[in-house]
Amino acid sequence: MTTRRPSVSAQGLDRNTARDIDSRVARILSDLGNPPPPLSLDDVRLLLKLDRGYYSATDPNLLQEVVHKLTLAGKQVIREPRRLLDVVRRLDLKALWLPDGRRILIDSELPDIKKRWAEGHEIGHSILPWHQVVMLGDKIRTLSPQCAYRFESEANYAAGRLLFMREEFRVQLGEHELGIPALQKLRKEFQNSLTSTLWRAVEVQEGYAFGLVSEHPQESVSARPVRHFIRSEAFCRRFPSVTEMEIYRDIQRFCRRGKGPLGKEERAFLDVDGASHAFVLEVFHNGYDTLTLGVHAGERTQTLITLPGQE
Ligand SMILES: [Zn+2]
Repeated sequence: MTTRRPSVSAQGLDRNTARDIDSRVARILSDLGNPPPPLSLDDVRLLLKLDRGYYSATDPNLLQEVVHKLTLAGKQVIREPRRLLDVVRRLDLKALWLPDGRRILIDSELPDIKKRWAEGHEIGHSILPWHQVVMLGDKIRTLSPQCAYRFESEANYAAGRLLFMREEFRVQLGEHELGIPALQKLRKEFQNSLTSTLWRAVEVQEGYAFGLVSEHPQESVSARPVRHFIRSEAFCRRFPSVTEMEIYRDIQRFCRRGKGPLGKEERAFLDVDGASHAFVLEVFHNGYDTLTLGVHAGERTQTLITLPGQE
C-alpha cells in the first residue's frame, strides 16, 4: 500500500499556505526572543501594535463605546455602528478583528480560558495579509462560504502555531505518555484550554489518534452531540470509516455522570482492510465540554466478528 502524503494538512490547508502561516508565526516568536511557554499575548500585541477591547452582545453600550472611541481616534472603522451590532448578533461572533483600527474585540461573556484562543485566532487574522481585505459589515457577506471557511481554518492554524509555540508543544508532548494527565500538565505549561490542548495533541500525532469534543455522554440532549472530531493524518488514512457517532455511542456505554474523569476503556475499531485495532479511550469533562482522547493500543490478533451460533 502506498502512503503518499496528501497535499493538504490535517487542518485542511494546503501545505504551502500552512508553511507561509508558520513562517509568520516563527517571525513573531523570534522577534520576542523565542521565550519559553506560556506565550504572553500582551507581548504579542505590543509587538504587532494591536489593541484589544471587549464587547458584550447583551450590552450594546460597550460595543458602541468601542466604536465611538475608534471614530474619535480618526479611524473610520464602521460607518454604521448599529450595523456592527447587527452583524455581531446575527453571526453570534465571539471575537472579531477590525483591520483599520488594528483592534481585536472579544466577547466579554466568553469564559476566560476561551478568550485566549479567541484572541489567538484574531491575531491570526491580523498577521495574514490576504485577510485584511475582509471587513465586517457588507464585505463579509461577499465571501463565499468556502472562502469564509478557509479563512477561519487559516486563522485557527495560526492561533494553534502561536499559542502552542510551533514545535515546542510537540517536543514537550513527546516527553510524556499520551493521555489526559499529559494534556493537563501541558495545558498548564502553555496556559491554554484543555480543549485546544487535546486538539493540538491529536493533530501532531504521527500514529493513530483521535479526539472528540462533545456534549456530556450521559446528559446529551441534542441530535448532534459531537462538536468536533479531530483525527491524526495517519488515523484519517487507515480508519476512514470510523465515525464520530460510533465513538460517541461507545463512550456513552462506559462513562459516568459528573465532571472530571468520566471513564477509561479499551475499544476496537476496524481499519480500511477490516482488521481490528484496540484503542484506549479516555474521557474527561471540563465543565464546558466532554473531551475524549483515543490512542492506538495495537492491532488485535483475534477477529471481533462473531458468527451466529459461535458465541
Ligand atoms: Zn475568524
